[in-house]
Amino acid sequence: MQLPQKHSAEGTTIFTVMSALAQQHSAINLSQGFPDFPVDQRLGQLLHEAVQEGFNQYAPMPGLPQLRQAISNDFSKRYGVDVNPDTEITITPGATYAIYTAFTSILQPGDEVIVLEPAYDSYIPNIETNGAKAITVPLISPSFKVDWNKVKDAISAKTKAIIVNTPHNPTGAIWTRQDWDQLAALVRNTDIIIVSDEVYEQLVFDGKEHYTVLQHAELRKRSFAIYSFGKVFNNTGWKIGYCIAPPDFTKAFRRIHQFLCFSVNTPAQYAIATYLSQPRLPDVAKMMQQKRDYFLDLLKKTPFKIYGPAAGSYFQTVSYEQISDMPDREFAEYLTKEYGVATIPISAFYLGKKDDKLIRFCFAKKEETLAKAVDRLSKLQPMVTNTHSSALLSGLTQQG
Ligand code: PMP
Ligand code: GLN
Repeated sequence: MQLPQKHSAEGTTIFTVMSALAQQHSAINLSQGFPDFPVDQRLGQLLHEAVQEGFNQYAPMPGLPQLRQAISNDFSKRYGVDVNPDTEITITPGATYAIYTAFTSILQPGDEVIVLEPAYDSYIPNIETNGAKAITVPLISPSFKVDWNKVKDAISAKTKAIIVNTPHNPTGAIWTRQDWDQLAALVRNTDIIIVSDEVYEQLVFDGKEHYTVLQHAELRKRSFAIYSFGKVFNNTGWKIGYCIAPPDFTKAFRRIHQFLCFSVNTPAQYAIATYLSQPRLPDVAKMMQQKRDYFLDLLKKTPFKIYGPAAGSYFQTVSYEQISDMPDREFAEYLTKEYGVATIPISAFYLGKKDDKLIRFCFAKKEETLAKAVDRLSKLQPMVTNTHSSALLSGLTQQG
């Protein structure tokens, strides 16, 4: 039987592929983004208590009221924005689902969505599954800032939405307030909707700040903002996220959501609601920045070239151009099999599989994991002598 191909992505996601390869070769897994350290004991205890206390049946469709209220308080405290818990917040089984649901709420066959590449790998399949077309715009290498002229050129009468991501996976770049202003200027007087993937909002380093689309009064009216507890509470496997959007957008979102999963894991919502309402939570940005710095320091022992430290997220992208001229996917497999360290090839984040000889490490790991991985990588020897690439790289590091 011939079944329809709903999107153009080949095979299985790179995260599944590389994690499986890591396991097969007993490699240290710095590929898929997830912490290898335990969740805060208190959060685990709260989950246990929720189950014991009998919160085991369906939660309300939009999410547990206490959790939505806790999120609203949290956004008021951290960003100074008012979010109505009843009409603007919907709890979802993770951010991937929320992004899909946002697209499904707004897209019709023939629509176009602008995607800035490299882009998280679910965006384009989600767009295509809804019968719409992804119009890709490359970020400026090596800073991975947005080329606003290119975004302007990509806008057409068919543009329904633009998906943006800050802090950015895989490059760690973050948006400034000016970026949001540029975006606002481009979409003013259009009906273009913004899908803002902000799952790493709390992972911003070196005293910099995350600007959420919710702080931009003009853009907020036309945006779905998407978050994931997995990234801030180190529990990616719980798959709890949420979508914040204006009441009319939230209505459209829930119209789909109610028939897609209806409601989300009840005990996990109880646990997170109580945890989030504590007056003081662990400083995840500080902890992750320490890991980034520790990892970057270790990487000096390897021949990788670094663009500059990740400003946010828990990923560090590096160039191996002066080590090998293998395609990036082949190189990532080679590192896994021969050196016992799994990473993600950046071509996986491009529709056209653009290969700039970059790989991504996840540094959300115990120090001992990072040390062991870099110890293995420090044995790497350059396999190419290519003057063109070294010239290019010195340019990269200067700017990075
Ligand atoms: N967006 C980005 C940029 C991500 O890196 C991830 C990774 N998990 C997600 C969305 C999905 O988050 P979740 O695990 O909550 O589905
Ligand atoms: N967001 C994670 C990453 O970028 C992976 C999530 C997934 O496996 N789909 O590594």
